[in-house]
Amino acid sequence: HTFCRKLPKIELHAHLNGSLSKSTMLHLKRYFADSGFEDKSNIFFDEFQIGAGDSRNLSDCFQVFSIAHSLTSTPEALEMATQMTLEEFNDDGCCYVELRSTPRDTPYMTKHQYIDTIVKSMQKINARLSIISRFVVSVNRSHHVSEAEAITNLAIEYNKKYPDIVVGLELSGEPTIGRFEDFVPSFVRAKECGLKISLHCGEICNSEEVISMLNFKPDRIGHGTCIHPSHGGTEDTWATLCKIKTPVEICLTSNVNTKSTPKYASHHFKEFYNAEIPVLICTDDKGVFETSLSQEYGICAETFDLDRTKLARLALNACQHIFAEDNVKRKLMTQILNFIDHHC
Ligand code: IMP
Repeated sequence: HTFCRKLPKIELHAHLNGSLSKSTMLHLKRYFADSGFEDKSNIFFDEFQIGAGDSRNLSDCFQVFSIAHSLTSTPEALEMATQMTLEEFNDDGCCYVELRSTPRDTPYMTKHQYIDTIVKSMQKINARLSIISRFVVSVNRSHHVSEAEAITNLAIEYNKKYPDIVVGLELSGEPTIGRFEDFVPSFVRAKECGLKISLHCGEICNSEEVISMLNFKPDRIGHGTCIHPSHGGTEDTWATLCKIKTPVEICLTSNVNTKSTPKYASHHFKEFYNAEIPVLICTDDKGVFETSLSQEYGICAETFDLDRTKLARLALNACQHIFAEDNVKRKLMTQILNFIDHHC
């Protein structure tokens, strides 16, 4: 456990509003009460957090984000949420984090202010702490295509203005809603402007969509649950992934707690790892699933019997697939190699 905490880790799949810890939420609740805003959060942590034995499935999980959203609806609250979340990743021994979030209009701010607030919060954290943070703008597939286009425009605009903070565009949201092909023009545009791309892919069984996503050649995919034939994929989806070896953001606890995967031991991490597909250990929603990146590394080591060197290699290899510039990559690799020299 101490080893997993000390290991400099790379977090590449963390949704901001799913990452709020209980203490961050309490802090925000207090802020709303003190500033005279109507408190609509009505927080029940039992409702927000989805633990191991929870009866809710993946679809039900999408209801809980509205609880967090009610606490990040003003620029001030969003800034606190961003900074506190990054501080927690820093305290957990993460040296680099890509936070992702869907910019949204609220009664107190526009999408424009939303993205602006996150960018400024990250700049402050990067100046103050050793952790390096970057922002990946999220498109929610359950929203209208025109919304996706507006968000893509914002991502492109902010990448031009702040290339050292806004680095990518990703597709997420309830996987049973919306069609990837409708969002392709937005993602093509973002790619052409130099943004890196990640797609939630194969969270539910939909081989046709998996194939078209992989053929789009995203820089990374999220989850990849239903790609291997023994997990609901087909020979074709698996052969395609094995051929192009797209790096996969792996979220063990998220998949187990939402019952996308029956148990850790049968997680597709094993097949991907053995097939030498780049696997990136991530948290997904550390608040909702009550986890941390060091906990995810610990679970991975225990479940798949990885020794310290193999575990540290996972963090080292993750450096190859970050969306930030090459000098950041080199810096992180040096840091992790140095750790390996001393601790493995
Ligand atoms: P936000 O983008 O910061 O508001 O973070 C919450 C959002 O992340 C949710 O509303 C979903 O759109 C997305 N999200 C979080 N977890 C998952 C997941 O496991 N699959 C797909 N989308 C997710």
